[in-house]
Amino acid sequence: MISDKLRQFIKAGSNPSFSEEDNRRIVVVNLFGFTGCLITVFLSLRALLANEVMLGAALMIASVVFLFSMLTMHISENVKSHVFAANLLVVTLMTLLLYLIIMGGKANTGPIWILILPPVTLFMSGLKRGLWMLLLFLLVICTLFFVPGLSIVEADYAMDFKTRVTYVFMTVTFLSSVYEYSRQQTYAEIHALRQQFEHQATHDPLTHLFNRRGLIKQIEPELARAKRQQSSTALVLLDIDRFKRINDEYGHDAGDKVLQGIAVLLNNAMRQQDYVSRWGGEEFLLVLPDTSKENAYHVADKLRFEIAQTPQQFESFTIDITASFGVSEVNSLVDYDKALTQADKAMYKAKQAGRNTVMMSN
Ligand code: GH3
Ligand code: MG
Ligand code: MG
Repeated sequence: MISDKLRQFIKAGSNPSFSEEDNRRIVVVNLFGFTGCLITVFLSLRALLANEVMLGAALMIASVVFLFSMLTMHISENVKSHVFAANLLVVTLMTLLLYLIIMGGKANTGPIWILILPPVTLFMSGLKRGLWMLLLFLLVICTLFFVPGLSIVEADYAMDFKTRVTYVFMTVTFLSSVYEYSRQQTYAEIHALRQQFEHQATHDPLTHLFNRRGLIKQIEPELARAKRQQSSTALVLLDIDRFKRINDEYGHDAGDKVLQGIAVLLNNAMRQQDYVSRWGGEEFLLVLPDTSKENAYHVADKLRFEIAQTPQQFESFTIDITASFGVSEVNSLVDYDKALTQADKAMYKAKQAGRNTVMMSN
């Protein structure tokens, strides 16, 4: 229960429509913003109670900025403002750490806190920008520590302490970079694999057209839009005639080649906004947004003509192809499933009428 609540809190503000990197940033800022805010408030109160007003005020300002960064993640839906808040958090942390180095903090232990900077910066700002920021920070602390006669550093540190803190800072930067690099690599690999699986699940490997699943995924938003705007969407189901004979006469590879050729022909013939899918073995389903079935009938008849006029080549063979078409439409009275059944029935009628024919549903 507590872990659920904690997870909810850490993920607050994330959104499935954001990229994974953006959602990860939200989690990191929430985590750091929360813990950073608590720690700085605690340290600030301690400093104020000990009458160290400047330190207490600096810590309090930092805690407010941490809280602000965290709240930005929860409130704003704008990814740019998230990036700004994350960078603001890093810059505030750096400023606070420089202040601690200059003033010394509690019993001159302030510089120890710089060790949290590498992981936080790399998590928040990514490898490239994070490393540049850390390099800049390293230059500044080296100047503060090792340039003689710099009067702005008020604390008095032993040389061994300064060199050790610098070495450990560089080591933690290196280790955090290696970690961040491998995380990014792993993420990129997972992302590529996911895209590959997604493509495999939604496309037909032979023709590279959408398969059923892919088509339905694509047209769902389209059908919802058509419903809102009360426009009609035409369905054209086409089935290659006597396809079994092609396989029997020329072999299965010839059949495959014909399917690929028809897929290219359909893709080239349709408009940009239309969807072309392989619905089953030698059946293709076309979805034409903002089109009546009467208009789709003419489109289908042109396709029928073009297919019949375009023999497919396989090795030395020239294979004549025809197809039968059923046309229907999705509208405010006919839903998608019903329109699909109607297109199928119309296509069956086209077969019965002698094939190489287009039929429209009633
Ligand atoms: P009809 O005019 O009535 O549609 O006759 P048809 O021969 O086209 O119809 P039928 O359903 O009898 O046969 C379809 C054939 O399509 C049978 C099947 O082996 C073949 N087929 C299905 N998928 C593929 C494929 O991916 N490649 C090849 N080469 N053939 C396929
Ligand atoms: Mg068939
Ligand atoms: Mg057929």
